[in-house]
Amino acid sequence: MADVPFSCQCGEMKGTLHGATPSSGNHLRCYCSACRAAVLYTTGKDVEDRGVELYQTTPDKISFQQGQNNLEVFSFTPERLLRFRASCCGVQMFTTLAKPKIAMAAIMTDLLHDKTAIGPIASQSFIPQADGTSKHSSILRLFGGTIWRALVARVTGRWKQTPFFDIETGKPIKAVYVPTSEERKSLPL
Ligand SMILES: [Zn+2]
Ligand SMILES: [Zn+2]
Repeated sequence: MADVPFSCQCGEMKGTLHGATPSSGNHLRCYCSACRAAVLYTTGKDVEDRGVELYQTTPDKISFQQGQNNLEVFSFTPERLLRFRASCCGVQMFTTLAKPKIAMAAIMTDLLHDKTAIGPIASQSFIPQADGTSKHSSILRLFGGTIWRALVARVTGRWKQTPFFDIETGKPIKAVYVPTSEERKSLPL
């Protein structure tokens, strides 16, 4: 079990992923079009068919030591999934579900200073297939583990420890920006 430092691309935001082990979260690669679009939207770079690498855990495992105020929120589907980015350098850092009571947070693993503690990639989602559909690997791990961790966080009250939401109102810490249709035109959504 390790406390792993992370930072945004420019280093103005610094934090810690607490108690990271391969089994206390889910290290995955996601190939969905929204993840690809989010990287393109925030960095101008297209990951194409390489997908993005995430570590899914609960929000109480994430804390900030510096620059927390730089967190900004955007979403392509505000009723479902929120994406948190750094206002300083623009990079996307986290995703959460739209409601804090279902405690899930995923960190973009490129921001971790050391990936050893989270182990190798254990599952993949939305893997493109030749026929144009997609499939998931280790589906039980992907959804079972995430739901189980969220349930435990709910029952123990740990869901209230989150840097992403105001628990009093249930709303995200900043207003959610929804990219305009003009901005979406160049994105693979
Ligand atoms: Zn995705
Ligand atoms: Zn930054």
